[in-house]
Amino acid sequence: NAPSSHETDHIFRSKLPDITISNHLPLHAYCFENLSDFSDRPCLISGSTGKTYSFAETHLISRKVAAGLSDLGIKKGDVIMTLLQNCPEFVFSFMGASMIGAVTTTANPFYTQSEIFKQFSASRAKLIITQSQYVNKLGDSDCHENNQKPGEDFIVITIDDPPENCLHFNVLVEANESEMPTVSILPDDPVALPFSSGTTGLPKGVILTHKSLITSVAQQVDGEIPNLYLKQDDVVLCVLPLFHIFSLNSVLLCSLRAGSAVLLMQKFEIGSLLELIQKHNVSVAAVVPPLVLALAKNPLVANFDLSSIRVVLSGAAPLGKELEDALRSRVPQAILGQGYGMTEAGPVLSMCLAFSKQPFPTKSGSCGTVVRNAELKVIDPETGRSLGYNQPGEICIRGSQIMKGYLNDAEATANTIDVEGWLHTGDIGYVDDDDEIFIVDRVKEIIKFKGFQVPPAELEALLVNHPSIADAAVVPQKDEVAGEVPVAFVVRSDELDLSEEAVKDYIAKQVVFYKKLHKVFFVHSIPKSASGKILRKDLRAKLATATTM
Ligand code: ATP
Ligand code: MG
Repeated sequence: NAPSSHETDHIFRSKLPDITISNHLPLHAYCFENLSDFSDRPCLISGSTGKTYSFAETHLISRKVAAGLSDLGIKKGDVIMTLLQNCPEFVFSFMGASMIGAVTTTANPFYTQSEIFKQFSASRAKLIITQSQYVNKLGDSDCHENNQKPGEDFIVITIDDPPENCLHFNVLVEANESEMPTVSILPDDPVALPFSSGTTGLPKGVILTHKSLITSVAQQVDGEIPNLYLKQDDVVLCVLPLFHIFSLNSVLLCSLRAGSAVLLMQKFEIGSLLELIQKHNVSVAAVVPPLVLALAKNPLVANFDLSSIRVVLSGAAPLGKELEDALRSRVPQAILGQGYGMTEAGPVLSMCLAFSKQPFPTKSGSCGTVVRNAELKVIDPETGRSLGYNQPGEICIRGSQIMKGYLNDAEATANTIDVEGWLHTGDIGYVDDDDEIFIVDRVKEIIKFKGFQVPPAELEALLVNHPSIADAAVVPQKDEVAGEVPVAFVVRSDELDLSEEAVKDYIAKQVVFYKKLHKVFFVHSIPKSASGKILRKDLRAKLATATTM
């Protein structure tokens, strides 16, 4: 990317003053820095067993795991892979690895054997921590090409009964923490290798350093007036998967730093989620739009007391104003807002200022304001010229929180971070007069009808606001005259009446002519990734193969 001339750049900054950030520390030292203030308070609560670990226990077990990893030959710079649903062992493993200068690549256990293998080999992991039910995904067949065998060429540890050739997690927990090696860790050393969600293509490995993650956490929860104000008596919901950077950073690392308890849920199921919120008095809920959809529309919600919730933070995908308003009627006492993140950005670019210790008024549908100690600009994607208030363009971010680079891909790194240090997000958005950011959609997803631009996210937001629509996605269909036209996949809430014509009319009444839907396909569900994004690439493929639908 050609750098734009900085004298003319319009740079947006937080409304909160910059702060001093301790990003010279290793990540674990930073997260546990204030431990003595709350060592006996609950740190991790397992939703399935109810077992609670205090901050002191979490710290101690992490140190034992660090010593255990070291006993198994893991050294500074080595990579371990977690292939886990949310559980306390995830936390001990991640923090333990950090303590000996090792790096964790967090993998999605729902991935197929070959997807997992790609991440495993790209990251050159030496050890995998998983659940016995996923060990078959590490089996020989796919690993054969490298002749790698679990238990021989790499170590497999399970948190439950270990199958053949695997070790039990206890070997780590039973290690002697006083024998943990002392290693010197530099701010620029990697600590995490999360992979992007694979929404637009293959998931990309992202190198995050101690300094980048500390900066990102500090931008959210540190300072006299934290942007995301977490308190010691908060119970923070951790239902979003920890293998994704949103939950890992904004839920786990931020709570560890701030002294809040984390309620770990293995997977999303609306009934048990509502029960756990009520039982544990969850006060801060980190969510993604599909979860907001469930909370706003599922009739079960009315049977539970959700009055403990004071903050709902949505992120990872577009959340329309209409859906945000619908959720508000279910949790009227809570502050609702969004964060905007991207794995490569460390991940948080912006955060709702209504979550601040000194809250600012904010608008529905906004993704918050750029975090402190960072610079944001909006550029014309064609010319690279920087744009002012209210002008949509590609969002770029600069600061110590952004990634070091893509794993094994210098070219992709150079295409994403320019020579002036700006990370180009590929997202189109604008900053309004109150410094609030509104995401329009991704550059790659915008539908081009003749010369006009149609953001699918805008039509999706309108569709899910219809009382008889449970879920929806919009994709382009090739068209001889217009180039592309928007078409919708719609899930009806009651399998009855709603017709294609009714859906088209409903949209046509609310939008300019070129945004009208040209076709509606009724389906039973919308494909989504584990991090809550609509997999439009799957729907586009479905359209291409099923022209006769
Ligand atoms: P890939 O890069 O592999 O295709 P991905 O971009 O979905 O996948 P992530 O890093 O998990 O992987 O997601 C970052 C993207 O999520 C952002 O670039 C943006 O498009 C979207 N996003 C995140 N938060 C928001 C938000 N609050 N509103 C709208 N979009 C969001
Ligand atoms: Mg991306």
